[in-house]
Amino acid sequence: MIRRAIYPGSFDPVTNGHLDVIDRARKLFDEVIVAVAHNDQKQPLFPLEERLALLQATIGKIKNVEIAPLDGLLVDFAVARKASAVIRGLRAISDFEFEFQMALMNRKLEATVETIFLMPKEEYTYLSSRIVKEIARLGGDVSEFVPARVAKALRTKLKR
Ligand code: ADP
Repeated sequence: MIRRAIYPGSFDPVTNGHLDVIDRARKLFDEVIVAVAHNDQKQPLFPLEERLALLQATIGKIKNVEIAPLDGLLVDFAVARKASAVIRGLRAISDFEFEFQMALMNRKLEATVETIFLMPKEEYTYLSSRIVKEIARLGGDVSEFVPARVAKALRTKLKR
């Protein structure tokens, strides 16, 4: 039996924190599907196609990692893709309340899918897509926090 996990998120854009979680997850599972949510409510900086392309350019060559768009309910996607787990990253206590609620709600919707939390390396615990975008918008250097392709895409997007 293949052990498959889904790692869902906005990835707007992918950061080194996400990559750290993906790397940990792919050592625990045979296959990891990075599922990129449309998330129209969040008004993403990068449209879905660009977020997918940035992930593809960064981790597309890793054997047991697949990148896919996520439409609809996460648990439905997990069942359709025969995944037994949802991976989420936990950075700080502040992530906990929302993640706890999501995990329990997903369990209620689909009891066969387990949520697993992974902690990134300490240096990534303060990192988020939101803060990266804020720094880039204000002209700061984000090359330490994101893959080179993403830093370049941010400069282009924000015309810096
Ligand atoms: P969402 O829009 O669902 O918050 P994100 O793209 O921000 O999606 O994040 C997806 C997942 O990755 C979430 O579980 C989030 O907690 C986790 N994550 C984001 N940044 C980091 C980081 N620096 N370290 C660990 N986990 C992270």
